[in-house]
Amino acid sequence: MTSLPHRTPPCYAPDMLVVDPWHWLNEDGSLPYDNPRLFRKALRVAQVIEYGGTLEPGEARETLLQCARRPAGKQCLSLLWVSKTSDDAIVAFCALCKHDEMIVHNWQQTEWADGMMEAVQTKPEVDPRLH
Ligand SMILES: [Zn+2]
Repeated sequence: MTSLPHRTPPCYAPDMLVVDPWHWLNEDGSLPYDNPRLFRKALRVAQVIEYGGTLEPGEARETLLQCARRPAGKQCLSLLWVSKTSDDAIVAFCALCKHDEMIVHNWQQTEWADGMMEAVQTKPEVDPRLH
């Protein structure tokens, strides 16, 4: 477990993406499956919401999302952290290259706000291990 990196919010990078997920989602809240470019962006935001939505203000956690930055032309091999701000926004940032990737507002009514989906019972006939 990595310890929480030192940072001093709300000192965000000027190029940080400010996101309202509803600008990228379909009206019913689903991902825009018919638009690959928009889909990738919206999916990244959904992942940040899934990791960060259940945090309390002032809390943070490490995700399994890789940092997207390429400082000096080399992929940053680090993981994003998410934190919850005092005004209930979710910030995603890299602990290594210190890049603030995005801040997400208006995420509370998205389907990822409560974290991972509840487990569902699989039917034996669709479980490949039983064949
Ligand atoms: Zn990074």
